[in-house]
Amino acid sequence: MPFARFNAVETTLHRAEVHPKAPANRVPDYYGSNVFGDAAMKKHLTEKTYKMVKEAITNGTKIDRAIADQVAAAMRSWATDRGATHYSHWFQPLTGATAEKHDTFFTLSPSGDVIEEFKGSALVQQEPDASSFPNGGIRSTFEARGYTAWDPSSPAFIMESGNCLTLCIPTIFISYTGEALDFKAPLLKSQHYLEKAAVAVCQYFDKNVTKVQTTLGWEQEYFLVDEALFTARQDLLLTGRTLIGRVPPKGQQLEDHYFGSIPERVLQYMFDLEIECHKLGIPVRTRHNEVAPGQYELAPMFEEVNIAVDHNSLLMDVMAKVARRHHLSVLFHEKPFAGVNGSGKHNNWSMSTNTGKNLLSPGDTPRKNIQFLTFFVNTIKAVYDNADLLRATVASASNDHRLGANEAPPAIVSAFIGDTLSRLLDELEEKDEKEFLDEVTKQDVKLDIHSKIPDLMLDNTDRNRTSPFAFTGNKFEIRMCGSQQNCASPMTVMNTIVGAQLIKFKEEVDAVIKTGVKKDSAILSVLKKMIAQSKAIRFEGDGYSQEWRDEAAARGLGNYENTPDALDAFISKKTLDLFAKANVMTHIESESRYEIALDDYVKKIQIEGRVMGDMCNLQVLPASLKYLNTLLENTKMLHKLGIDGVDYSAQMDLIKDINKHINGMRKGVVAMIEARKVANNIDNLREQAAAYCKDVKEAYFDEIRYHADKLEELVDDQAWILPKYREMLFVR
Ligand code: ADP
Ligand code: MG
Repeated sequence: MPFARFNAVETTLHRAEVHPKAPANRVPDYYGSNVFGDAAMKKHLTEKTYKMVKEAITNGTKIDRAIADQVAAAMRSWATDRGATHYSHWFQPLTGATAEKHDTFFTLSPSGDVIEEFKGSALVQQEPDASSFPNGGIRSTFEARGYTAWDPSSPAFIMESGNCLTLCIPTIFISYTGEALDFKAPLLKSQHYLEKAAVAVCQYFDKNVTKVQTTLGWEQEYFLVDEALFTARQDLLLTGRTLIGRVPPKGQQLEDHYFGSIPERVLQYMFDLEIECHKLGIPVRTRHNEVAPGQYELAPMFEEVNIAVDHNSLLMDVMAKVARRHHLSVLFHEKPFAGVNGSGKHNNWSMSTNTGKNLLSPGDTPRKNIQFLTFFVNTIKAVYDNADLLRATVASASNDHRLGANEAPPAIVSAFIGDTLSRLLDELEEKDEKEFLDEVTKQDVKLDIHSKIPDLMLDNTDRNRTSPFAFTGNKFEIRMCGSQQNCASPMTVMNTIVGAQLIKFKEEVDAVIKTGVKKDSAILSVLKKMIAQSKAIRFEGDGYSQEWRDEAAARGLGNYENTPDALDAFISKKTLDLFAKANVMTHIESESRYEIALDDYVKKIQIEGRVMGDMCNLQVLPASLKYLNTLLENTKMLHKLGIDGVDYSAQMDLIKDINKHINGMRKGVVAMIEARKVANNIDNLREQAAAYCKDVKEAYFDEIRYHADKLEELVDDQAWILPKYREMLFVR
């Protein structure tokens, strides 16, 4: 009998392996070959045009139409030389996926000649028919049109899909009335805001600093599952995670997967992926197995934040595309499998200057490095003041399975900075700033006290993996971000809160300087105050423990374990004003994003509920009944034979057990459907989200799953048509 499960396994086993080939022997030979970057621009633009585009990229100056025409023509000839036939504005709407609408270069001239054309006007602005992208009420109340506008600071690239080549132009996506409908527009604004604030503060230390950019290095975690098995699981296909499924006898407990040798099939995939990334100028460098079986990670070199965000979005598309070549499915969901680790996307964030300085690099002697202390302490203070907002930006139905559930990191936002820097901040807080300064100038204050290994390196190797926000040597690592999330939202928040904090800081320091205090003392005196004020956010211990929860509550730190609760911080007056004042998002834009996030939550749980019901009713129940009938038949026959002393108590036990779980599961499903009906009738979106969270998900999902998984444990393997964890998790 060809059960779906075995069909799937068979298909997999009979597939030819794909062995990718690099377009040239060495990475430098093809790196960036699909990017209209600096080298291509230099080659294809006149010197004057090149200069003007560079000026627009570095200083945000406007590009006029004539120049745009020249750039467009150069892009077209560069792209068509490489075989591209179409161009597309490429943008990141609030669905979380990337969007593109293709137009061909081909056109007919008035005299009927076939020509290829790409005008500056088409490069600069497009009006995609985008009325069905999420807009949180913005466009239904105003105008249904949306515009995409060229972002010259992120280079155009060629997307290869089979033999179709498309020139993609990174753009922002805004409504007719100018509100942002994407992730990029607020990010660019936040970058601008932070830059201005940070440059002003840098001026205390170095007059040559005229530019500050934020840098992002993401680390992308993901799972790979055989495509055939993936397709046979409607929960994976429709929700991205398994809603039921028994945890296999062996999961990750032997800790043999992390950094283990990479299976050949997977390595072929990674190799292929790296080639595609490098052609696109995505500087991926690291690949390794993650903690859970079937889980992997890849990380690039860090880049300027806007480029890094674009590269991560592009990467996720490329990953899915390349996976299909290898008959694999890549899972970006934060928790595809119960009982093993989920996936995150660590966002490493820092700031760097035009003079080449990383503002969060402490150097050998952080104590002497007042500039470092300034940016370091201001960042901590900003996170302390806006911890709830930071938590809100990473809230989603899928990330709820990590934050606040039994998984790293906890939902409580705290900052880990390591022993050395903790001691240093404590000292600065306690000591008189003059005393602190005197020591700076007097003694050689290498931090290295007890060994030849510098302290900071000790901290680096021994760092706390449970912290949601950790200082890791020369950058802060935001670990709460979800693996399928667009990095732009946490980055926008970081830029905005740190920008606002730096402005406040500068005002305070200037006020102290005005009273006649020397600059360094003034800075330290303000930092001292800030260290004391933000102390509660600092935590070096085990983030999983109950003691920490109690302690965090006593310190007044928020602990929002589900998305509806976490999202409230996004529309608090404090947040609305913060974004508006920074000119990052208007109240309307913030509110629309909040609404989109809530709506997304409701829909995701609703779909999960439906899929779960279908799987239980249409797959688990029939398989269980079939096996139950076999047992009943067997018992009946044994009984009928009437052999003296024949024992069929094992069968009877099984029958009772299976029947119990069938009933339990079925009752749960019926009640869950009723709860959904009630939730669907709630008009207020916030209340509806709460109902989906508490009355649907929390009330029934685990219970239904418990019974379904028990049935998987009891029912004949042959009768079970769903791919099992052991088959999906161990890709060979
Ligand atoms: P982990 O132990 O968390 O895997 P790594 O040392 O491998 O940490 O670095 C992870 C990420 O940090 C990489 O993506 C790297 O590009 C990024 N990174 C390093 N320096 C910076 C920086 N100054 N700004 C932003 N990201 C950085
Ligand atoms: Mg990391």
